[in-house]
Amino acid sequence: MIVKNKKKNNYFQAFMLSCFRVFASSRLIFNSQLFRISHCQLSIVNCQLYLCFLLCFTSITAQPLRPPLDIPLLLSGNFGELRSNHYHSGLDFKTQGVEGKAVIAVQDGYICRVVVGPWGYGNALYLSHGDSIMTLYGHLQRFTNNVAAFVKSKQYENERFEVDVRLTPDDFPVKTGDIIGYSGNSGSSGGPHLHFEIRDMLTDEVIDPLPYYTDRIKDTRTPKLKALMVYPIENEGVVNGSQQKRRMLPVASQDGRQIVTDKIEAWGKIAFSVNIDDYMDGTTNVYGVKELTMFVDNQKVFHRVLDRFNLSDTRYMNACIDFEEWKEKRSFFTKTFVEPGNHLPFITSKNRGYIIIDEPRTYQVTFQLTDAYGNTNLITAEVTGKEQPVTHTNTNGATLFYLNGENQFGAKGIRLFIPRGCLYNSLYFQHRIIVDSTYFSDIHILHNKPIALHRPAQLSLRILEDTLIEKRQYGIVTIVNKRNSWIGGTYRDGWIDANINEFGVYAVVADKKPPVITPLEQSQWMTRGIISFRLTDNLSGVAAYRGEIDGNYALFEMDGKKSLIIYKLDKERLTRGKHTLSLTATDACGNRKVFETTFVY
Ligand SMILES: [Zn+2]
Repeated sequence: MIVKNKKKNNYFQAFMLSCFRVFASSRLIFNSQLFRISHCQLSIVNCQLYLCFLLCFTSITAQPLRPPLDIPLLLSGNFGELRSNHYHSGLDFKTQGVEGKAVIAVQDGYICRVVVGPWGYGNALYLSHGDSIMTLYGHLQRFTNNVAAFVKSKQYENERFEVDVRLTPDDFPVKTGDIIGYSGNSGSSGGPHLHFEIRDMLTDEVIDPLPYYTDRIKDTRTPKLKALMVYPIENEGVVNGSQQKRRMLPVASQDGRQIVTDKIEAWGKIAFSVNIDDYMDGTTNVYGVKELTMFVDNQKVFHRVLDRFNLSDTRYMNACIDFEEWKEKRSFFTKTFVEPGNHLPFITSKNRGYIIIDEPRTYQVTFQLTDAYGNTNLITAEVTGKEQPVTHTNTNGATLFYLNGENQFGAKGIRLFIPRGCLYNSLYFQHRIIVDSTYFSDIHILHNKPIALHRPAQLSLRILEDTLIEKRQYGIVTIVNKRNSWIGGTYRDGWIDANINEFGVYAVVADKKPPVITPLEQSQWMTRGIISFRLTDNLSGVAAYRGEIDGNYALFEMDGKKSLIIYKLDKERLTRGKHTLSLTATDACGNRKVFETTFVY
């Protein structure tokens, strides 16, 4: 059993639950006619039994968790790290820059799920270890031979590259230390590494695996503050005579500590966010900061620790960051305040982390950054209470969207429906139009800054001149830095309906071009034993592809990030001689391309 004593211990809870199950069944036996003992005696027996289970449990759980790799452990990513729209849910172990390192079962169990796909974790294995604990190994290069053969049979059975199958304990049992696969770079991976996760199936939470490996991974380096942001809260606060947020950089004090010396003269309601990174020994990587605390005049006002979270909560990460900074400058500023629509359970705060400056004095604000090893950095900033007028935002022409409830907006050429639970805060929504003849609709700018939505909202845009015969070629795009990024949608009476996940810039386009199929090094196919193609699309993306040899399905494996598909010459399925190869690719608008050729095997 995997156990490390933490404040809240779900392995312990899980085991306790199974203890109770045994305990309950033992009660049944003892309560039966076999043992005619008094209730009091029975309680003592039960109690002893229970203690016995506990002891037995404790001795099992004392085992450390075996590492999933047999090379020196270094991380390229840690648990809870901020990623686009989510918190990183595991550890990324470095694999010395190469693929093919043996990946090892960290505990007895069985392979309960195998996933193969062009994105996400690529080739991934899920191991079940008893009642509720599961471990996940992602971005694998390949599986062991027996699992690989099973996966391939599934792929041919379903005539599909993507696989997601659940397995029983009898299919592929594993023992601690068994090789279960080989590390790789498959799926949405940015370089060779192993993504490793621990999940508690009882609570649906992912758990930080680092505490199991702190004796093998060295970290003496403290987290650092890279920048501080001060926010005057709209209509309620003011900072340095302005309603604008202010970015400030820390400097080193005489004793080498970080401090913020910029002038912060404020009045009313203000808040902060911090751009922070952690570091570890022996690597140049940067990591997320596990624990963040803010004190005002030595009183704890905000505290967040990331040692476990529910996967269904991961999108709240957008509520915890300055989303505008992320969208426009690609930097993560973690708020030390909690907006009313943010329901993450691992944050505690006083007055939601907002600070009321209402006295003409100095307020001491301290940020405490702590990593999993207890390396701690304390950074101080001073706020001077100075009475100054709070100017109110001009809300003329804006539409008030309420945090609690459904919101609707309509204007020329646009309809927007925001279901309950989308917003993290109420806001005065602003809408603007830009006329641009390169699009099939006007360009619609939703709000005066990027806003993340917790759930999708429904956006409908009207087509100005509905000239296309193939209506499915229309789609909505979001325009970021003058580049179109496909959202899609469905055609309905001259309108396109689509789901959007954030406020931004949207317009209607049409994708009339089929994907492009490019054979790669065709003359080398037979000598290399691999037939490979690049599959690209101008706009809506390759939605489906199918390879056939002599009219029968042929397995082409896809690497999404490289737009690459490959067929490995398969001596079990391919006879010697001349063959016809046909490859069909279809984009999200139904535009289709067929490529045909012959080869001699
Ligand atoms: Zn990862």
